[in-house]
Amino acid sequence: MDQSGFDDRTRALDIAHRRATEFLEDLDDRPVWPRASLDEMLDAFGGPLPEDGTDPAQVIEEIATRADPGLVAIPGGRFFGFVIGGTHPAALAADWLVSTWDQNSGSSALAPATVAMERIAGRWMLDLFGLPDSASVGFVTGGQLANFTCLASARQSVLARAGWDVAERGLREAPPLRVVVGADRHSSIDRAARFLGIGRAELIVVDSDDQGRMRPEALEQQLLSGTGPLIVCLQAGEVHTGAFDDFEALIPIARAHDAWVHVDGAFGLWAAASPALRSLTAGMEHANSWATDAHKTLNVPYDCGMAIVRDPADSIAAFRTGGDYLMYTGLDPWDVTPELSRRARGVPAWAALKSLGRSGVAQLMDRLHANAAAMARGLRSIPGVHVVNDVDYTQVMFRLDDDAATRALGRAILDEGTAAVTGAEWRGRATQRCSMSSWATTDADIDRTVSAIRALVQVA
Ligand SMILES: *Cc1c(COP(=O)(O)O)cnc(C)c1O
Repeated sequence: MDQSGFDDRTRALDIAHRRATEFLEDLDDRPVWPRASLDEMLDAFGGPLPEDGTDPAQVIEEIATRADPGLVAIPGGRFFGFVIGGTHPAALAADWLVSTWDQNSGSSALAPATVAMERIAGRWMLDLFGLPDSASVGFVTGGQLANFTCLASARQSVLARAGWDVAERGLREAPPLRVVVGADRHSSIDRAARFLGIGRAELIVVDSDDQGRMRPEALEQQLLSGTGPLIVCLQAGEVHTGAFDDFEALIPIARAHDAWVHVDGAFGLWAAASPALRSLTAGMEHANSWATDAHKTLNVPYDCGMAIVRDPADSIAAFRTGGDYLMYTGLDPWDVTPELSRRARGVPAWAALKSLGRSGVAQLMDRLHANAAAMARGLRSIPGVHVVNDVDYTQVMFRLDDDAATRALGRAILDEGTAAVTGAEWRGRATQRCSMSSWATTDADIDRTVSAIRALVQVA
């Protein structure tokens, strides 16, 4: 690159920095839900591929200006849709460095600095979760891929115990694999199973209670009527209610039947990091694998999830690669996850953990729970609004008496712009869901949201 190329780069970075700062400073004032549709965004960015190039700084200006009306105020304090965290300052700034450094972090030989930071971040998380420090922690894109990665290790292990090496011999002639799931599992479990050659109709579904927790007696009953390799998928944090399976009751039952126990704790595993909330996860440390996210509760930017496997030999057996040009230096990231080349997505997690410390993570968890309790109190104070779930964690679900009115209220909330909540069906009824997942949410954000919803309910 010549001198003018370096200047272009500096100008482009300066503009990105300025526009990013403006976006963050404007978050509190912009409508949370975007004002532009996908079609409008396609128009904004569309047209034929330009024949000639454009100055990098101008490209960045154009991106920031054109994207703006289509952006969701996710990093702000009043985005409560799905289960989505904000962006902690240290994590965001670290993420900029990750892109700048451009380290291929699949291999420690290639990227010692970033691989080291990920390895330490993984150990810190095991410490926070109370999991064995010898477990492998694979950094993947999110909970979906974490569930897939853990279940691939599970499949490898339970079939190996039945004398079948699935990495070598495949699935077609393998002994039948039983995969047991709860009725209120996250859909990413079904997809993970599908990617592993286990169809939806093959899943063995166990009944759950009114909050979505697997019923221990139903699991016991189910396991009595089968034999052979077995995986049992449990859940820490049901995506609607936030409920946790009763691990102390369920894991011994699964273990008595020689199962691999997997816990989907995309946002729930973080409860273990707070002394006040830890009891929700009691017993989960006896599982074989755990999936969780950093881009939800830890508030790092997209994307970052973790696949945790008790015995690293199981993930290595499922994932170690054999390219003869790859340099081996012991346990590498690509030995325990499906990817080869990838960004150093664990570095922002290291930064968030370093910035918060053990006490800061615990306080974050306690605040998310307190925010959920405050939101539930506020919503209950609105005549006609019913809070549907037990608010033991970060999730609040509410509805009106009438399903159509509940759906209309959801649309009205997004249109009004103060806050974003998203809808769902729960036990056959329309509901709206608020997920308290952002470090940025303040008491004032909750008050503003409750006031906005109160006004909309009164108008309807
Ligand atoms: C969000 C979520 C997932 C999927 O995680 P992604 O990060 O979106 O891939 C899986 N399980 C549960 C319980 C979740 O809440």
